[in-house]
Amino acid sequence: MINDTTLLLGLDGVTVTRVVAAGEEPQDGPVVHLATDDERARFCPQCGVAAVRMKEWVTTRPRDLPVGGRRCTLRWRKRRWRCDQASCPRQTFTEQVPQIPARSRLTRRLRQASGAAVGDGGRTVIHSARDHGVSWPIVSAAFTEHAHRVLPAQPELVTVLGIDEVRRGRPRWMLDEATGTWTAAVDRWHTGFVDLSGEQGLLGQVEGRTIAAVTGWLNQRDPAWRQQVAFVAIDMCTIFKAAVRAVLPQATLVVDHFHIVQLANQALTEVRRRVTVQIRGRRGRKGYREWELRNRLRSPDARLSTGSDGR
Ligand SMILES: [Zn+2]
Repeated sequence: MINDTTLLLGLDGVTVTRVVAAGEEPQDGPVVHLATDDERARFCPQCGVAAVRMKEWVTTRPRDLPVGGRRCTLRWRKRRWRCDQASCPRQTFTEQVPQIPARSRLTRRLRQASGAAVGDGGRTVIHSARDHGVSWPIVSAAFTEHAHRVLPAQPELVTVLGIDEVRRGRPRWMLDEATGTWTAAVDRWHTGFVDLSGEQGLLGQVEGRTIAAVTGWLNQRDPAWRQQVAFVAIDMCTIFKAAVRAVLPQATLVVDHFHIVQLANQALTEVRRRVTVQIRGRRGRKGYREWELRNRLRSPDARLSTGSDGR
């Protein structure tokens, strides 16, 4: 039975039987009563045979997207069926439709919208949770599902791969009851994999910066993908070096130019510090030319002048 209100709600598998006007409170939307409108709802989820004996009526209140800007309260009156198949361990089950899975307290489209708001709408998880009236763990899981749906299973081929460590939030510790020691449950260091020759950007990120974390991600790629990698840019980290040597033996290791410059500057500053102390008998300060010059190498070209002071 398709009626106007059912069309307006547009929730597949259920039909609107009546709508009761909003309650007293301003936040109360109309109450929308639903009935099942999907023949498949009576098929036992365990054995797949259509049930014929009804046990009882039950009412659920799945949350849904707003309709016309107002959040409606849904009341779905549905059947609990008995499964009479002798071989089926399931005795009873309630009706479910793809948009409202069994035991789910929200419609699939509400869940998907909360995840898409983060993935495509640029909202934070907390914002999306507030906008959609759901908890943040639900949005977080929905965002992960959304990402899996829209991202390719395998990245495209990469010729120059970048691997670097990424610091992410705070570590979490877990108490091992048996031994009484604390172990890291969440590593604050992640390893990121970046496409440096193409335009794919960040290819993946895994928790931890261990050899196993790096080789684990690389081994999930196709052999053809791994074979294609000709260069790998890393910082001067022995963990990444060992992991790349093990999994991408054909690739040439390249040390990221930023990290070399950073190390060279650190070494030079160390020499300045030592020489300043040797000559002046105290640590570097304003007015000591050799000490003042230490930031010169870190200045961008545009800020370096060729003035009369010999720069
Ligand atoms: Zn069954």
